[in-house]
Amino acid sequence: MVRAVVRDTFFLSQKSEPAGRDDDEVIKDLLDTLQANRERCVGMAANMIGVKKRIIVVSTGGVDMAMLNPVIIKKSMPYETQEGCLSLEGSRKTTRFETIEVEYRDRSYKRCRQRFKGWTAQIIQHEIDHCDGIVI
Ligand SMILES: [Zn+2]
Repeated sequence: MVRAVVRDTFFLSQKSEPAGRDDDEVIKDLLDTLQANRERCVGMAANMIGVKKRIIVVSTGGVDMAMLNPVIIKKSMPYETQEGCLSLEGSRKTTRFETIEVEYRDRSYKRCRQRFKGWTAQIIQHEIDHCDGIVI
């Protein structure tokens, strides 16, 4: 189900709780909402649809992937960039890392560990920030 995008800065500034095996409905809604906002959005975090769970969805070259409880365990090559956000007007400066390694659970709650680079890595860092109550 496509949900409304939350723009309430107080709500978005709160940390999300760990996600569990019973959060598939949230994942489905997140993927639907990402799909509906495809033109101006490449990733979303669950709190952007009003659910304070550590779940993100990321658009990676045509495929949308869901990550539960993502944690960056390695990062290298910082750079300055400018980002926008569906929950925010305009864009802001931020520092991101070119390469990251992430531990997460996939949609079937399987434990995964994967390296990401460039644009995909940047989206993941932005969405993980949302889980920590940071909007860029
Ligand atoms: Zn955002």
